[in-house]
Amino acid sequence: MPLTDRLLLGPGPSNPYPEAVAALGRPMLGHMDPEFLGVLDETMERLREVFRTSNALTLPVSATGSAGMEACFVNLIEPGDAAIVGVNGVFGERMCEVARRCGADVVRVEAPWGRPLDPEHLLDAARDHPRARVLAVVHAETSTGVENEIAPLRALRDTDILLLVDTVTSLAGIPVEVDDWGVDACYSGTQKCLGVPPGLSPVTFSERAIARLQARDARPQSWYLDLSLIADYVAGSSRVYHHTAPVSMVFALHAALGAILDEGLEAAWARHRAVGTRLQESLPALGFELVVPEGHRLPQLTTAWLPPDADDATLRKALLETYGIEVGGGLGDFAGRAWRIGLMGHSARDRSVTTLLGALGELLS
Ligand code: PLP
Repeated sequence: MPLTDRLLLGPGPSNPYPEAVAALGRPMLGHMDPEFLGVLDETMERLREVFRTSNALTLPVSATGSAGMEACFVNLIEPGDAAIVGVNGVFGERMCEVARRCGADVVRVEAPWGRPLDPEHLLDAARDHPRARVLAVVHAETSTGVENEIAPLRALRDTDILLLVDTVTSLAGIPVEVDDWGVDACYSGTQKCLGVPPGLSPVTFSERAIARLQARDARPQSWYLDLSLIADYVAGSSRVYHHTAPVSMVFALHAALGAILDEGLEAAWARHRAVGTRLQESLPALGFELVVPEGHRLPQLTTAWLPPDADDATLRKALLETYGIEVGGGLGDFAGRAWRIGLMGHSARDRSVTTLLGALGELLS
């Protein structure tokens, strides 16, 4: 059977950068090999640049984005703590569930699907619950294509509440400013705008978050995601064995971060913005209607209602089988009615937009 390749324009994975694909073929090194540890150190340095932080505790967790989410909650929450969570899509809901399983009393601050969270409502909840331990928000809600504003939440710096942010779909695609926004705990995933296959979750913790970690009454319930143990191997000088690092994935992340920084982080943001805008301006002529109001749309993930007479499954099957293009279906209430079209990482190119619009034009005519 010949190998299949696709143009990946769904909600992730995106097509990895060629540098990442090439790096996957590097000869295997041991996870304690000094040469590999040098690559790991450089990867963490590059992650700091992309997260825009000087946080010492910045490392790739060896698992997907959900593990990054779980690592943040399991290290920062103790049973009985209150956690404020913004919910306007699937991943805000997932945060609530993860926090609950850590024993948190969850305070939900909601907005309708397809609309952004109001930062003032989140700050009101923080004022109403001053003993809450964290306030958690998804920056780029992949289920709806909405950007939730993080910068106003920097006001939490003056409280004891830690700001926890999901940047799985935003990191390296749109501005993420960990230090400037006062973010205390932040996680991402490799398979979206970072342009690496799925499998690692970059995580960064501020000094405040580390102090919270050190002041815990009990060790985190999860051994694998205990960040102090992970940090002893990944980031510490002692390099105490914790788990066998996924060496090839670290090579791939290192290479993709190199490509992004060579292009320039701002240039990568601008590329995502330009192709997303072009797609969003072009879809209405084909009968699609954008779900998210202007000003809150993610360029890297567009949600659009299908043309009235188009059948979701038939159209997506034809796109995949005839043109080799993957787009994402809607989740939850949006299932069968809306699409999620990703332009992330190496897939965020004009040629992707041209190819998709051409294929849709043929299929819908
Ligand atoms: N958070 C957001 C915003 C996501 O889009 C995703 C995955 O799509 C996740 C968390 C979970 O990441 P993963 O599927 O890599 O575990």
